[in-house]
Amino acid sequence: MLDLDKRSITYLQGVGPKKAEILQKEADISSYEDLLFYFPYKYIDRSRFYKIAEINGNMPYIQLKGRILYFDTFGEGRSKRLVGKFTDGTGTIDLVWFKGLNYVTDKIKPGLDYIVFGRPAEFGHIYSIPHPDIDPVDQADQVSGGLTPFYNTTEKMKKSFLNSRSIQNLQYTLLSWLNWEVPETLSPDVLQRIRMVSLTEAMRNIHFPESAEKLKNAQLRLKFDELFFIQLNILRTANVRKLKLKGIIFPTVGHFFNTFYKEYLPFELTGAQKRVVREIRSDMGSGRQMNRLLQGDVGSGKTLVGLLAMLLAVDNHCQACMMAPTEILATQHYATVMGFLKDMDIKVALLTGSTPKRERNKILPAIANGEIQIVVGTHALIEETVVFSSLGLAIIDEQHRFGVEQRSRLWTKNAIVPHVLVMTATPIPRTLAMTLYGDLDVSVIDELPPGRKPIQTVHRYDNKKAQLYDFLRKEINLGRQVYVVYPLIEGNEKLDYKNLEDGFKLFKEMFPEYKVCMVHGRMKAADKEREMQKFISGEAHILMATTVIEVGVNVPNASVMVIESAERFGLSQLHQLRGRVGRGADQSYCILVSSYKLSNETRKRLEIMVNSNNGFEIAEADLRLRGHGDLEGTRQSGEGIYLKIADLAADGQILQFAREVAQDILNEDPELLSDTHRILNERLKTLFSRKVNWGMIS
Ligand code: ADP
Ligand code: MG
Repeated sequence: MLDLDKRSITYLQGVGPKKAEILQKEADISSYEDLLFYFPYKYIDRSRFYKIAEINGNMPYIQLKGRILYFDTFGEGRSKRLVGKFTDGTGTIDLVWFKGLNYVTDKIKPGLDYIVFGRPAEFGHIYSIPHPDIDPVDQADQVSGGLTPFYNTTEKMKKSFLNSRSIQNLQYTLLSWLNWEVPETLSPDVLQRIRMVSLTEAMRNIHFPESAEKLKNAQLRLKFDELFFIQLNILRTANVRKLKLKGIIFPTVGHFFNTFYKEYLPFELTGAQKRVVREIRSDMGSGRQMNRLLQGDVGSGKTLVGLLAMLLAVDNHCQACMMAPTEILATQHYATVMGFLKDMDIKVALLTGSTPKRERNKILPAIANGEIQIVVGTHALIEETVVFSSLGLAIIDEQHRFGVEQRSRLWTKNAIVPHVLVMTATPIPRTLAMTLYGDLDVSVIDELPPGRKPIQTVHRYDNKKAQLYDFLRKEINLGRQVYVVYPLIEGNEKLDYKNLEDGFKLFKEMFPEYKVCMVHGRMKAADKEREMQKFISGEAHILMATTVIEVGVNVPNASVMVIESAERFGLSQLHQLRGRVGRGADQSYCILVSSYKLSNETRKRLEIMVNSNNGFEIAEADLRLRGHGDLEGTRQSGEGIYLKIADLAADGQILQFAREVAQDILNEDPELLSDTHRILNERLKTLFSRKVNWGMIS
């Protein structure tokens, strides 16, 4: 056994403790295996040589063959730079180094033939190549061979001489140490079924591509590998849970459910709501633990479905809780639940971070002795101090802000795990759902309550404000309320976006006859609450806010959503924001205001918003436009998933195939105990028992 995952990168020839530390911190490479799976993010064709005379202003990377005439240094101290005058007979160009000058003059000798590779920079029609790769002609052949890989590196890595090139050298060292044979990760039956290249072949070609064709095969195999083990892991866990985890059985549809349904429910459920309630009831009666994801566009009536499920729990002498990601939302859910249940004999409590101590001291014992039947709250619900007497159902609203780890902490509060219903208004594209929530059963509410008029969305440039203000005035005079959302709280010199504080001042001047209120994430909870309440009660006409109002806030009388600097927001976020209106019977509007200067991608994004009201369509488009790997975006929306090579937007088919193969294997051998599958079992252990790499869903 080579145990590549247990061999510290420190011991690889050419690394050592200092570089090892940098590799670990900057690139999360701590073992031989991490290095091997550190893949290039692009390749550049180095089969062609350019002539210096051909160089012009818009070349990305070029390769030259020639010699250095002489070296010169300029400047002093930190601004010192080394210039090598380089010629290939058709002209000369300066090769420039700002760092590692001694290293270069030691290694590179004037008069010998070299191959130079880099990105030309232009200064007043004079070209130079800063920090080029430079190799003696004979050595260069061995390293490049056509397609040159590029590895992600950071400033800190480069400072320690860990540039893309040296990463490739380390790959060379490692593969040589392995005699260019990499231990296979897949079992023979899987390999035979998928008909892809071996891991050895894939690793050779991903780091040292012999041809474009072979590179493609290598990428295919490695993408499959990545997605296959994710699916195998999810499906196996789900299977084991299904087999082993008993769920509390809720056999009765009792007094509470029936009374509410027949006497207090103010409207007919939509067909989709009825279907989902049936699915939930059948889960809860099955004897297995329910793990269900309920997806439904904003305003589709998920909360009500959640409430019905909670009543089922109460009917069966269990408690239920509903957890929301923000204080505002939890408070609103509490108000909704109280509103629906006010005439029924059920004890409901609200528990959040800002519940006063006195109150808390009353609530906690009542939760522990079962007196309180339904608890609505925030993260505060999963604190150690909260002990339920018999938690039968946990509902998690807007799940993607809760990590898997938090979900599982809820489970440990009971001897028998409670049923879990996860509700999200962010429609998750199929591929992403399979990867992130592949262990959950999925229900979809694909129908809005009747009588809703589709929201009209328009895009306006911010030099046409007068018309916008007239329009807002007209709507407010009709008795409606308006949201105005900003990307920033205060001005920022670096970002040319509108900000809430300036906007608030401006609106107060523009609309002296109306009441304007404001909420943002940096306000104290109590202030936020007070301002929010002004809007909910109808006292304030205009609510100005940051994205804190993004999820769940429900004010049916608000019919206009203005989003300032709309170019700043992602599609899913825009859709979420838009979902704050269109909740009543009035025609609603969403006005996306942007500057005139927009990139093509942004223009497309806004166009999609104008043309579609369908959350799933928008989510798919979003995934296509920005890819799941956009860290900024994923961090914002919280659906972080870290893949090394596969791309959920582009590799849906590979994912589907990987899932099928994984499912087939598990059908044959549910716990992967056969000799053939031991290798898969081992691999799962390596991949998923490790620190960050799979805690990544958060
Ligand atoms: P979601 O949580 O999916 O965004 P909500 O549960 O907040 O949606 O419902 C949005 C609004 O629609 C609420 O005011 C709710 O009372 C109302 N509603 C829910 N279901 C129905 C229905 N079947 N018919 C009419 N109105 C409904
Ligand atoms: Mg909701």
